Amino acid sequence: MRNRRWTYMAVWTAVLALSITMTTACSDGKAQGGASGTKAGGSSQVDPVTSDSPSGSQDEEEEPADPALAALVNKTHPLQDSYAPDDLVMVEVPTIFQNAEVNQLRKEAAEALKGLFAGAEKEGYKLYARSGYRSYETQQALFADYVNREGEAAANRYSAKAGQSEHQTGLAMDVTSDSVSKGLKEAFGETDEGRWLAEHAHQYGFIIRYPEGQEGITGYIYEPWHIRYLGVELATKVFDSGLTYEEYANGNQAP
Ligand SMILES: [Zn+2]
Repeated sequence: MRNRRWTYMAVWTAVLALSITMTTACSDGKAQGGASGTKAGGSSQVDPVTSDSPSGSQDEEEEPADPALAALVNKTHPLQDSYAPDDLVMVEVPTIFQNAEVNQLRKEAAEALKGLFAGAEKEGYKLYARSGYRSYETQQALFADYVNREGEAAANRYSAKAGQSEHQTGLAMDVTSDSVSKGLKEAFGETDEGRWLAEHAHQYGFIIRYPEGQEGITGYIYEPWHIRYLGVELATKVFDSGLTYEEYANGNQAP
């Protein structure tokens, strides 16, 4: 549809703008997902926006307000070391840590998170925001700690090297529940809260960024707790496509 063109443009524009290459990782504490080992540097395969953009579409949609919201960040599309969002705010939902830094998200994402949690609560599910924004320095310290404890190869599967974490964008949040002791566990995906999140996150603008069985594409193990804000329109398209964001952003979307 006609929206697609803008979507792709937004994605690639964002990639270029941030000159990123990152990898994500949720590492905050224990089981998370993170980066992987393929390090990357900034290679960018920024290939053109899809060549099959519909011709003749007349009603283009409005241009996204902030292309960075659609930025693809992974091990091969890292962020610049110096990148830090300028509109971080404290989230207004239940959190776990006292550390103020991780309780932040970019303003638009924080507002969407509030709506998401309210939607869950309406259905009787209580969610907690465990880890959101992480600065380059925080991620660097975290990754070093994981490497110390388990070695780099292991750390790379669930945590990200600094600059490669989606958490540095201020658009990712690790969500959890009492049913998994507020931890980051794969079992969260099988809980009522985790299932609700997977089915409804897109309605609030988020996607489950690291789906099960897609480690080869995303670079991360299954992380049912890691959600990434893209805005309702784009998140819904990605959800409906059934693809990982890597595949979607590369234009491999099914018709
Ligand atoms: Zn995460």
